Amino acid sequence: MQVDTLIVHGRVIDPLNDVDKTLDVAIKDGKVFKVGENLNVAATETFDATGCLVTPGLIDAHVHCYEYATPISLNADKRCLSRGVTTVIDAGSSGASTFMGLRKYVMERSKTRVKCLLHIAMHGLASAGLSAGAGGGESDTLAILDEDSCVKCIQDNRDVIVGVKVRLSTDVCAMGKTEYEAYRRALNAAERCSVPLMTHHSMSTIPTQRALDPSAKLCCPGDLRPGDIYTHTYVGYPSTIVDAETRDVYSDVMDAKSRGVLFDVGHGAGGFNWTVAEIACKQNLYPDLLGTDLHVFSQDGPAYDLPSVMTKFLHIGMPLYDVVKSVTSAPALAYGITGETGSLTTGIAGDVTILKIDDCDFMLEDSVGQLRNIRRIIRHLAVWREGERIPVTFPKHLPSEESQQRSLKNLKDQEVKD
Ligand SMILES: [Zn+2]
Repeated sequence: MQVDTLIVHGRVIDPLNDVDKTLDVAIKDGKVFKVGENLNVAATETFDATGCLVTPGLIDAHVHCYEYATPISLNADKRCLSRGVTTVIDAGSSGASTFMGLRKYVMERSKTRVKCLLHIAMHGLASAGLSAGAGGGESDTLAILDEDSCVKCIQDNRDVIVGVKVRLSTDVCAMGKTEYEAYRRALNAAERCSVPLMTHHSMSTIPTQRALDPSAKLCCPGDLRPGDIYTHTYVGYPSTIVDAETRDVYSDVMDAKSRGVLFDVGHGAGGFNWTVAEIACKQNLYPDLLGTDLHVFSQDGPAYDLPSVMTKFLHIGMPLYDVVKSVTSAPALAYGITGETGSLTTGIAGDVTILKIDDCDFMLEDSVGQLRNIRRIIRHLAVWREGERIPVTFPKHLPSEESQQRSLKNLKDQEVKD
């Protein structure tokens, strides 16, 4: 018996199987063949992972990779797979009328496993870049938010569409006029297909805490269902989850967490504020998912890549096991793809990532230009996708002074900051 790849002596963290132990991992014919102590098998390639972490291929719960079809999308193979990420979830770059391009030109041609959330707006993010970009947004016109088209597209592509996306921000919803209806339709579509809804909720007329607007018909995350996903959790913009006066996380947010609503980082270019994240984690609102919201405006900082976002949460004090869980088993469970990935179960795709934690000493920015002194960095050393070893790349500049300067422009708009 000969296997293709044998990874030896590493600390294997495989949360779906409740494993955190020094073990060997064998890959054969593109699949996980066996995980165990001192596997005595011949291998074409042996990788010595002494002093390293061996994890299931990382899953990024939130990226934008509909390259060239939307102004913000990047190339998943270049910016995700080479950074140790074997699976990405595109968060709403496409809608019902633009989805087939994502399927044919991105999903079917990428080495990275690409799944997606379908935007409730039929054109997805084809024209609207970021909420602060050119005037207007994808949900300005109610006719484009067609619930039936969204449902049909999901039902026809259940193998790759794993949820629904909506952005609740006044400036992408006709200055707030269509916001409630966009939310209502997105919730309905997700409910009808039994998939999660991910909400981007920032600078919104939909209240974070019901008491802030008792007449509001819907709240966010208050009206999300268990399994739905609240992204950009740690923004400091208006609609932040932290009460700017008391510096406490709103009780409706804590209630949502205990009901089973999932919280995603969604770092992006504007979605992560150190102050808010530190306050929230101190009050036990750690993220369930570490989505980077990686796109062309966050890939060279302030998000950089998934290992960099993992580094930030390790810095905040999130236990290493939970950091790994939030980029492996947790997103696999959230999006219903544990049959394909998210673990090192025998027979599953041979997607494996090697990580190493190194000492370091530099200042790292959030998306509003605030800095923290990072002393431990998580780096990706190697990655296999269906048994094939993929060369890794690293950010050109980490930290990037240019990104720190650029991010600083957002600081004046923060309700909560240092
Ligand atoms: Zn996003």
